[in-house]
Amino acid sequence: YRVKRAGGGYASFQRQEDQRTTLQVERLTALHRALEQDELQLYFQPVVHAESQAVVAHEALLRWIRPSGMVSPLDFIPLAETSGLIVPIGRWVLRQAVDAVKTGQLQRVSVNVSALEIRQVDFAEHLRRVLTESGVEPQRIWLELTESSMLEPRFAAVLHELNMLGVRTALDDFGNGYSSLTALTNLPIQLVKIDRSFTAPIGEDTPAGKRALEVMRGIMTLVRALGIPTVAEGIETPKQADLLLKVGCTYFQGYLFGRPEPLSKHAEPSGPRPTLSTEVRN
Ligand code: C2E
Ligand code: MG
Ligand code: MG
Ligand code: MG
Repeated sequence: YRVKRAGGGYASFQRQEDQRTTLQVERLTALHRALEQDELQLYFQPVVHAESQAVVAHEALLRWIRPSGMVSPLDFIPLAETSGLIVPIGRWVLRQAVDAVKTGQLQRVSVNVSALEIRQVDFAEHLRRVLTESGVEPQRIWLELTESSMLEPRFAAVLHELNMLGVRTALDDFGNGYSSLTALTNLPIQLVKIDRSFTAPIGEDTPAGKRALEVMRGIMTLVRALGIPTVAEGIETPKQADLLLKVGCTYFQGYLFGRPEPLSKHAEPSGPRPTLSTEVRN
């Protein structure tokens, strides 16, 4: 009796697995098509200087616009990563982002980079080519590397290559994973982006809210002691901005300052290309 049940359980588990695999294959085919048929679009969200609230950059955030609606990157980036499709997608993102700067639509752009892209031996060389072809100054580009990239054997080498090119490197989602203080101390990382999960409870009049603020104060003290500026992600209320400014955060990003939007909505005044603000020189 027990054996039979176990066997039946296994069979139905197998069926579920097969269905899931079929779904994944369908999604992957659709994602391939998306890249070829212009269903991918970049949205941009402002990053502002905490004190002046001046916009210093825009983060490029990928969207998959399907006939059935918009798919969140949280749903398709993992699939793109496991399938390797993130490499051509990442190249497309980089080109679009650099183009937005080249055409004067954005002053500076911050681009997310997956661990698998870091693993490509020609990643920095590809970036160099894109920069050269576009004529965009490297200090107008920030690259956001996640903590999972730190596990890549070539992580340190790539960081050095990128810094040689003159782009700025940011550690994204800080505090969410494997952040090592050794890496922050020894590697050329010029910006630390603190994950939204740390920001979210701040401003609540609860023990959790107060604890979150103290944690943020500690992170700021530590990261600033290393001479690295910080970005707090996910700021939604003026109270959060106020408290984070007081604990020494350098830059802000969040719905309070602007949601991710397609370029057409960032109707910046035309005219001469904006100059770089001094705080964000490399
Ligand atoms: P991330 O790099 O940490 O990006 C910040 C995420 O927080 C974005 O989610 C943004 O829309 C969201 N966000 C910003 N401000 C607020 C706020 O005030 N409240 C709330 N609730 N959310 C806020 P999004 O656009 O869904 O992207 C999710 C993740 O997908 C990104 O996290 C990034 O890891 C990844 N991703 C997005 N675009 C790309 C890309 O082009 N390449 C790669 N490799 N990853 C990407
Ligand atoms: Mg990011
Ligand atoms: Mg982030
Ligand atoms: Mg995040």
